[in-house]
Amino acid sequence: MKKIIFALSAIIMITCAENTKNNTSDYKDKNAPIEDRIEHLISLMTLDEKIMQMNQWTYGKNANPNNIGEKMREVSPEIGSLLYRSTNPEYRNQIQKKAMTESRLGIPIIFGFDAIHGYRTIFPIPLAQASSWNTELVKESSAITAKESWLSGLDWTFSPMVDVARDARWGRVSEGYGEDTYANSAFAVAAVQGYQGSNLNEKYTIAACLKHFIGYSLSEGGRDYHYSDVSNQTLWETFMPPFEAGVNAGAATLMSGFNDISGIPASANHYTLTEVLKEKWKHDGFVVSDWGSVRNLVEQSVAKDLKEATQKAFMAGIEMDMVDNAYVDYLPELVAEGKVPMESIDEAVRRILRVKMKLGLFENPYVDVVSEKERYLLPEYLELAEQLSSESFVLLKNENETLPMTSKYKNLAIIGPMVKDSVHIMGFWEGMGRPEDVKTIYEGLEKEFKNKATLNYALGCDYDGDDESGFEAAIKAANNSDAIVLFLGEKRHWSGENGSRSTIALPKIQEDLVAALRKTNKPIILMLSSGRPLELIRLEKMADAIVEIWQPGTMAGPAVAGLLSGRHNPSGKLPMTFPQTTGQIPIYYNMRQAARPTLGHYQDIPRDPLYWFGHGLSYTTFDYSPIKLSSKKITKDQTLIAEVEVTNSGNLDGKESVLWFIKDPFASISRPIKELKHFDKKTIKVGEKVVYRFEINPERDLSFVDSKGNRHLESGDFYVIINDQKVHFELVE
Ligand code: BGC
Repeated sequence: MKKIIFALSAIIMITCAENTKNNTSDYKDKNAPIEDRIEHLISLMTLDEKIMQMNQWTYGKNANPNNIGEKMREVSPEIGSLLYRSTNPEYRNQIQKKAMTESRLGIPIIFGFDAIHGYRTIFPIPLAQASSWNTELVKESSAITAKESWLSGLDWTFSPMVDVARDARWGRVSEGYGEDTYANSAFAVAAVQGYQGSNLNEKYTIAACLKHFIGYSLSEGGRDYHYSDVSNQTLWETFMPPFEAGVNAGAATLMSGFNDISGIPASANHYTLTEVLKEKWKHDGFVVSDWGSVRNLVEQSVAKDLKEATQKAFMAGIEMDMVDNAYVDYLPELVAEGKVPMESIDEAVRRILRVKMKLGLFENPYVDVVSEKERYLLPEYLELAEQLSSESFVLLKNENETLPMTSKYKNLAIIGPMVKDSVHIMGFWEGMGRPEDVKTIYEGLEKEFKNKATLNYALGCDYDGDDESGFEAAIKAANNSDAIVLFLGEKRHWSGENGSRSTIALPKIQEDLVAALRKTNKPIILMLSSGRPLELIRLEKMADAIVEIWQPGTMAGPAVAGLLSGRHNPSGKLPMTFPQTTGQIPIYYNMRQAARPTLGHYQDIPRDPLYWFGHGLSYTTFDYSPIKLSSKKITKDQTLIAEVEVTNSGNLDGKESVLWFIKDPFASISRPIKELKHFDKKTIKVGEKVVYRFEINPERDLSFVDSKGNRHLESGDFYVIINDQKVHFELVE
């Protein structure tokens, strides 16, 4: 690698010294229009310089800071991008200085990294964020991530992941916003706006990257990296909209997927990468391949070698090659052989330079260097992290109002492997989060229940294995207490990339612990921390209350403790259905109706899943008025106003998310049973009534796409649905 990069730099120097002699430097003129600057710069660049812009390299998987100095010397100043695995802004500035002063044209490097749900302040995993139904909080948390990242030397994050995911065996369900297309679209927009702010040119903003374009979550059987067979109808209806929404929100970049989409891998797919993204949606930024996904085209049997893989990936529409070095190695000869036209090279470089220009990197190539204390974990960041975590918790079951436990219980048995954990609770892709920053559940409880209740802690068991030796102490702690708060769940790498599981049940040892504790006849509050929906068919019966806390991140402890004490009233609702058993997958709320709706279900389990999408309880009660429609009939260019009044009829202030669905019972292309089209979360004080409103725009909310992505709006019957209410209206010509 080193040799190749040096050799290339040398050639660049020799071949181009002549070219630049008499050139003006408009591209350096920050007042000139961006497009003119780009054209001027391209006119000065050699082929090799252009190709280097398309290359992203990294320090390797090893983030050991000792490597940095050594590695830095290997990096060519001509390189387009670095996957930057250091937290040190000074290294970044030093490397950037090399690019600005030692490369022939002084083109800045774009530094990228996976800050997926936080950089150093770790927010809940994206699946949890979706459970909050609070796009404003998601936007704010993304803005904090952007600021921490920028101050650590980054210009770009490989987030958000907007792959609609319906198979909980696939570990990467934790990285996205769940099973619904509209929810993924709404959170895609929130995240992009948070990362990019209103102007990418400003300090503390970073470029977003929508990934993984496209269809990756359909990997067969939930096995990561596997083939995904997707019809064009499903592609357009289910998977495209979140990407389109993100593109419309201004996402600067996209990342292609590893998956093979029905025979044409996502990283060699001209239809999705060029015809749709660039031609139909007019995206003017660039696409980066996923880690090694150019090389993977050989494994996927569509390219005989890396050279052919390069040609296919590049010609399909991938402008930047992540870590394969394939573009540098093969594009020069592919151009020489006439297999890759120069105009395509120029267009790819144009897109990369455009993002760099928009980021203001030419004028401000360096980031500010401030102390870590000023950079990370600021009190307001932690406050927001606690709020987002607590809003993401989903109260799945609460029999006899077991929760909250304020003053009800004086002795609490606190049991389970999650209690003192500070690693797994951060979830996969924990950025630069550190276990020592995490407020553990135990710390949170100690603080919250000080002088209010005694905590009797026992480990109980490990996450897996078959060691039951801790059961006895757990049973003893339970016997000495009024209630058991049992923290079970998944290790961080059980979900996330390469984190597929054949079953979504918890390991047997954890289930056995629940059964052993059940025998004490003390109320059991089951707190689940996982990166995916879980199979709870055996556990549900044994627990009095169940809360899904997902992987809450840095502020896990205070958020969990606040939920148990009642300081936080839960308001999360599931963004992904919890099936009865793993075998019930795929099951999601917006399936198509079966030909025989009451037949065909599995005979050995109930027909419905355990908890549907949208399920989530509160400590208070919310009463819904009947849905009011402004009219029973509308034409295609009219707006229909739907309203519902929600009253907090309980004893605690709370937040309620209203999820509005549309059902289209007859259409020329079959429609799902119902589809989410709008949601809104509001605070409702005790006794207060609040009106929620959905303005139905027929073109946007009642139309559907065909397999080519063309929209159709057909008149006829429709229904607006909230919870168990279903109100009819008609769309007329
Ligand atoms: C993942 C991407 C990630 C990239 C860079 C890949 O293995 O699939 O989601 O952004 O690595 O770390």
